[in-house]
Amino acid sequence: ARVLVTGANGYIAAWLCRGHLEQGDYVIGTVRSVGKGAYLKKLFASYGNKFEVVVVEDITKPGAFDEAVKGVDAVQHTASPVRLDARTANELVDPAVRGTLGVLESAKNFGKSIRRVVILSSGAAVVQPAKDHTVFDESSWNDAAVEELKQKGDAASPLTLYRASKVLAERSAWEFMESNKGLVSWDIVAVNPPFVRLPPIHEVHSLLELNASMEMMYKMLNDTQSDAEALSRFSGWYVDVRDIAAALSQFARAPDVGGQRFIVAAGPLFWQDIVDAANETDPTIPVKGVPGATKGKPPGYTFSTSRAARVLGMQSYRSLETTVKDSLDYFKTFPAST
Ligand code: NDP
Repeated sequence: ARVLVTGANGYIAAWLCRGHLEQGDYVIGTVRSVGKGAYLKKLFASYGNKFEVVVVEDITKPGAFDEAVKGVDAVQHTASPVRLDARTANELVDPAVRGTLGVLESAKNFGKSIRRVVILSSGAAVVQPAKDHTVFDESSWNDAAVEELKQKGDAASPLTLYRASKVLAERSAWEFMESNKGLVSWDIVAVNPPFVRLPPIHEVHSLLELNASMEMMYKMLNDTQSDAEALSRFSGWYVDVRDIAAALSQFARAPDVGGQRFIVAAGPLFWQDIVDAANETDPTIPVKGVPGATKGKPPGYTFSTSRAARVLGMQSYRSLETTVKDSLDYFKTFPAST
């Protein structure tokens, strides 16, 4: 099959491109500049002409994906800002929403051979963080983030801005499908992963350039100024980047899954669990937190992951220990001062 991956140079997307290439697919990856494509061309050189780069400078421009969607069978839309330093809502919401709608609009007008569009949404579009000990499933929406954005505007926290951007982008995709019923030859699937971790294969020059989710992990293990007890308060869920890439490529071709969202998550954790697992592998890790404090503690919230398991049969995801160990190995590939 021919698969279009938007934001191909991203952390998850690079793994996703590799997954499709390994399955024998042709991959067309969009990036924002020629330079960003060069690294990928090198990374995937062994697949020959099966990997192609297309430059889409501005995903918010109408018709930006018109050329890119031609002749492809499936689209993986991953391009969206993942930043915790945004100062205005529009830095995140605009590209998230208009990028998503732009891909769908181009697919509608020029994607004659497309059968499936996979939208990489997020657990952030599902979970309402204030609701403790709740089970979240595919009917859950983080409307609280959108509400907060409405009330506070740019003064909302960067995390709220990110969460709202993911809710608004995914909702806009479902609304697009509703208002284009019968007008498109393809369906959509939304995939909602929690924090994705593990060694990147995309271009990273230094530890200062890590993508947001890996940067968070690096700081968690190295920032000795942080509050040791807070590590036992923050909880979330995780999934290994290789597992999410595998799930996304399965969703690109699985029959009978169109029109649904899927939570794909490996398990719950407290930040302290990451710190403990890291110290077990490498006792020289500077941050210790309160060792063992969260062992056996019930998670802050629960994801229902049975829908994805039913469809994909993905019952066993990589363990936290594997994820943490491989991440430590990755961090060691950089000189400490960078
Ligand atoms: P990265 O930051 O590594 O990748 C983001 C990609 O989106 C890059 O290709 C980036 O291009 C592109 N992008 C960002 N902003 C814009 C913009 N304004 N216009 C055009 N392209 C843009 O992040 P991840 O790989 O972690 O995230 C990929 C997707 O997965 C996102 O949709 C994210 O919301 C979702 N996700 C990620 C999770 C995680 O823990 N990592 C968890 C759940 C969901 P460029 O390099 O040019 O900026």
